[in-house]
Amino acid sequence: MHRVTRPALLFAITTFLLCPMPPVAGEDIAKKQRQPRAHQRPILRITEGLNTDGDLAKYYQRGLNYAIQYFGNHGPYYIYLLGPDNEQSVLDIYHQRALSRVDTKSKQSAREQVEAFLKQPNIVAEIQAVLAGEAEGGLTWTQEAPILYEDVTTNARQRQRDPIENTWGALHEYHHVFQMAHCDTTHPRTSDQHINSWMAEGMASYSSAKFMENLGLLDFNNYMLQLRQTGGNIGRPGINEFLTNTKVWQLENETYWDSEVAAPVYYMLGAWATAYLIHVQGVDEVVVLKSWYQDIPHIGKSAAFQKHMGVSLADFYKKFSIFISQSDDDVMKIFQRQERVK
Ligand SMILES: [Zn+2]
Repeated sequence: MHRVTRPALLFAITTFLLCPMPPVAGEDIAKKQRQPRAHQRPILRITEGLNTDGDLAKYYQRGLNYAIQYFGNHGPYYIYLLGPDNEQSVLDIYHQRALSRVDTKSKQSAREQVEAFLKQPNIVAEIQAVLAGEAEGGLTWTQEAPILYEDVTTNARQRQRDPIENTWGALHEYHHVFQMAHCDTTHPRTSDQHINSWMAEGMASYSSAKFMENLGLLDFNNYMLQLRQTGGNIGRPGINEFLTNTKVWQLENETYWDSEVAAPVYYMLGAWATAYLIHVQGVDEVVVLKSWYQDIPHIGKSAAFQKHMGVSLADFYKKFSIFISQSDDDVMKIFQRQERVK
C-alpha cells in the first residue's frame, strides 16, 4: 500500500516502508492466520559482488540478532541484500525467492507458481531496479500460504557503505515482522484486526533508535530531539516545522501515505507517541513495544491498547496532541524524569 520512494527523504524512510505482496495462490486466509508459524532462523541471501569482506552480513546481523532476542523468532524471514554486479546471481536469488513462496497445496504446479511470481509486474520492475543499482524495496510479506516475511534491499551497496544504517534498518524491519505476525493484514489499518500506520512506523522508529543506543551506537535522547528539530534520518520537515505549518493532523489518519505528511506523522510523531506511552503514561517499555501486540489477535487493537496502556485510543489521541505541542525543553523533560527514577 505504500511502496513509494521520495527522493527528498533520506535512506531510512525509503527502506522502512511496509507493503504486503500478492500471494502466489489462494487459500482460506482465516485458516492460515490460525496455523502455527514456522520458526526457522532468518535466511540472508546476498548477491555476488557484495559482502566480500563479510561486513554487510555482519552489521545486518548485529541488528537482527538483537531484535530477535527482544521480540522472539518469527518467520520464516528472508533477507535479500541485492546489488547489480552479477546479473545471474540476481536471477538465481529471485528464483530461490519464488521457490520459497510455492504453496505445496495449490492446484498449480511449483514450476507454474515460480513462473507466475517471476512474471508479476512488481517483481519484474524490482529486478530491473536491482540491476540498475536503484534503491527500492522494504518489508514485504505474504497474506496466504506460505506465510513469510521478506526484507528486500535492491541497492545493498548503500547498506554496505554505512554499517550504522545497516544495523538500524535491520532492527526497524524486524519490529515490523513481529508486528505483522500479530495482525491480520488482510484487514485495513483502520480496522481492529490491524494496527495503524503510526503504531507500525512510530513504534519501530522508537524501538530501533532505543536499541541502537543499547548497542552503543546512538544517543537516543538526542535522536528524539532531532526528530523535532530537523527530522533526523527520517525526512524533512521535522516535527516542529510540521506542527507550525499544519494545524490539523491526526495520528490515526490512514490517508497520508501518498503525501509528504506520512514521514512527520507516522514515523516522527509516531515515535514521540510511543515515548509518551512509556515516559508519560508510565507503561513498561516491553509492554508498549511488544506485549500489547500479543493480545491483538485475541481481543482486537482497541481493547488490547486500553488493557495494556491504561487509556483508550480516543483519550490517548487527545492527550498526546496537547503534549506534543509543547516546547522542546518541556517535552524532553520526560526522559530526564526517567533517568532520576533510575
Ligand atoms: Zn517501517
